[in-house]
Amino acid sequence: MPPIPGSGLAKGLAVTLRTMTKRAHTAQYPEVQPELPPRSRGVIGLFEENCTVCMLCARECPDWCIYIDSHKETVPAATPGGRERSRNVLDRFAIDFSLCMYCGICIEVCPFDALFWSPEFEYAETDIHELTHERDKLREWMWTVPAPPALDPGAEEPKEIAAARKTAEKAEAAAAAAAAEAGATPPADGTPDGTPDTPAGGTA
Ligand code: SF4
Ligand code: SF4
Repeated sequence: MPPIPGSGLAKGLAVTLRTMTKRAHTAQYPEVQPELPPRSRGVIGLFEENCTVCMLCARECPDWCIYIDSHKETVPAATPGGRERSRNVLDRFAIDFSLCMYCGICIEVCPFDALFWSPEFEYAETDIHELTHERDKLREWMWTVPAPPALDPGAEEPKEIAAARKTAEKAEAAAAAAAAEAGATPPADGTPDGTPDTPAGGTA
């Protein structure tokens, strides 16, 4: 059906009228901080302990604005006769936010959950060099990362939480077994309650 002549104009005027009758909302920033959605892309935080220096984030970053330096370290064998292992040690991790386009690819590709979005956005600088945030600053942003939202009711327990729970349960069971064993073992002096034997009629 062809459009009724003038219907476009009427629609446009209706939008104008609706907008005219609404009160203007002026954000009083910076006196009043804006309420940002929890998943806002403000700045990137680094949880260094999780980083294995796999370089995936730096390789996938379309702007090449992640700088990572590392060296290899030999870890002695954990058990006698075992093999020595080598591991990467992080020397530098920096993100140049003057180049970053906030695409989030680095966060998506990190296989070890070492990078997170923080909603913090107030880090403008007068010197562009200051926008390269080194590892210490990236760690500081970590503490501004909001907690993840609660799971849906009936959702499967995440494997990381399940693994942590099992480890905690095992540690608790081992501690309880050790305590029970210590309680069952007679004290070294041979008395049931550990009180030293005093000869009859003798003085302590
Ligand atoms: S958000 Fe995108 S551009 Fe910014 S550091 Fe990560 S991958 Fe690079
Ligand atoms: S992808 Fe993750 S683990 Fe790998 S270097 Fe980047 S931050 Fe570290």
